[in-house]
Amino acid sequence: MIQSLPMALPADRLESRIPDLKPRLTEAQATAEANRCLYCYDAPCIQACPTAINIPEFIKRIATGNVAGAAETILEANILGHSCASVCPVEVLCVGSCVYNRLGEPPIMIGRLQRHATEYAYDRGLRFFKKGRSTGKRVALVGAGPASLACAHELTRLGHEAVIFEGRKIPGGLNATGVAPYKLHAEEALREVAYIQAIGFEIRTGTQVGRDLSFEQLTSDFDAVFLGMGLGPDSQLGLPGEDLPGCVGAVALIERLKNEASFRLPDVHHAVVIGGGNTAIDAVRELKHLGVPQVTMVYRRGEAEMSGYAHELKSARQEGVELCFWAAPVAVEGKGRASALRCERTRMSASGSLEPIPGSAFTLEADLVVKATGQEKLATLLAGLPGVTLERGRVVVDAQTGRAGKSKFFAGGDCANGGKEVVNAAAEGKRAARGMDAYFKAAARPVEREVTVR
Ligand SMILES: Cc1cc2nc3c(=O)[nH]c(=O)nc-3n(C[C@H](O)[C@H](O)[C@H](O)COP(=O)(O)OP(=O)(O)OC[C@H]3O[C@@H](n4cnc5c(N)ncnc54)[C@H](O)[C@@H]3O)c2cc1C
Ligand code: SF4
Repeated sequence: MIQSLPMALPADRLESRIPDLKPRLTEAQATAEANRCLYCYDAPCIQACPTAINIPEFIKRIATGNVAGAAETILEANILGHSCASVCPVEVLCVGSCVYNRLGEPPIMIGRLQRHATEYAYDRGLRFFKKGRSTGKRVALVGAGPASLACAHELTRLGHEAVIFEGRKIPGGLNATGVAPYKLHAEEALREVAYIQAIGFEIRTGTQVGRDLSFEQLTSDFDAVFLGMGLGPDSQLGLPGEDLPGCVGAVALIERLKNEASFRLPDVHHAVVIGGGNTAIDAVRELKHLGVPQVTMVYRRGEAEMSGYAHELKSARQEGVELCFWAAPVAVEGKGRASALRCERTRMSASGSLEPIPGSAFTLEADLVVKATGQEKLATLLAGLPGVTLERGRVVVDAQTGRAGKSKFFAGGDCANGGKEVVNAAAEGKRAARGMDAYFKAAARPVEREVTVR
């Protein structure tokens, strides 16, 4: 049984009041669902998975009672397959591409079957992978999020020593601090970290690279460095009144409710969340689940322009979230504490740009204002790393190897892709581990000399 956590979480966390919206299937449900699969040739569901899990294979294994084998198929492709089963936007990935959609029938519940298999392996402590024979190579990884965890696991299988440095007190990255609790609770994220780490690599928490340890130290002590530090804090809007108590960033707020002991929302009657992406939708839904009576999402464009997923927005609507489109915030108002958000109506101009509508200002009552307009890039921390190029704050890497230029640095996950999903971070972490393996092997090969034949 994998019960022991690498780090204890405080009891009485607010997130534990939010139930799991897609609970485990029973064995009978899982078997019945697995038997619906058509085991398609050239299965579109595999092609839609960034980690290319052999979905028909694992589903067939469930159908034939080989649930351990199903878990092995999943984890061989994606060692974060347990969290991905619950957090992946399957509606736009594997499930969205299932052939049943075209037949007008409900698609296979791939995520829930995946969870059925990984829970089976976790509950029984089944392990499928071993540490490879030591190569003597050492890799430092910055950040203990999904990208670094996938990278460290693959490096360990290949025989390289991996040491992860994590600034926070707990590992897991946004799986532990950011993902909506109705998809994944923090303790489940830590359970996954413990499972992955058991292959045999080190995680040093409470060690912020750039503050407690320099990049120079890492490059001199290790043969390669993996950058998996994700993105920075919530973006600022530059609005008057933004610094008032009661006006907070969404990622910071979610981290508190997921991780902090006895953190409680103040007496909130009306919360307003600014933004149109998935973090904004997560925030409104979490606030509704925590019992805030009136929750409004304010977005400066229309529904069609939102970057948040339509299926998530549909759930938010069903849960009673109010939506205010074509409205841009202009100021947070309040005496000593936020009490309202001043907005103005917007529209598309003839030239296609967004413009305010003169005289359209209005006020939304809000005792909590949440900014969910993105995370900053960690450009200042990353600037000046030898051989590393940044493009719009992201680390530029080779698409095959994850290597940054010709440097000792490799990167993956949000700091390189600008902010995608857990499954992308997992895929890119593994890719970088293989890239480093090839880099070490190439460096070990004797230099070919030109031979002159007389
Ligand atoms: C609110 C929110 C909800 C999300 N929900 C979902 C979802 O439901 N499904 C989904 O698939 N994706 C979701 N995502 C996206 C997903 O969480 C990320 O794409 C994924 O976690 C990226 O992994 P990563 O390893 O690159 O970075 P992260 O998960 O951000 O991990 C980076 C780690 O590096 C650490 N770190 C940073 N700087 C340093 C330093 N200098 N030294 C040491 N450590 C450092 C951080 O503390 C952190 O632990 C969500 C994102 C957010 C913000
Ligand atoms: S596309 Fe659907 S039916 Fe076909 S293999 Fe994938 S899950 Fe099964």
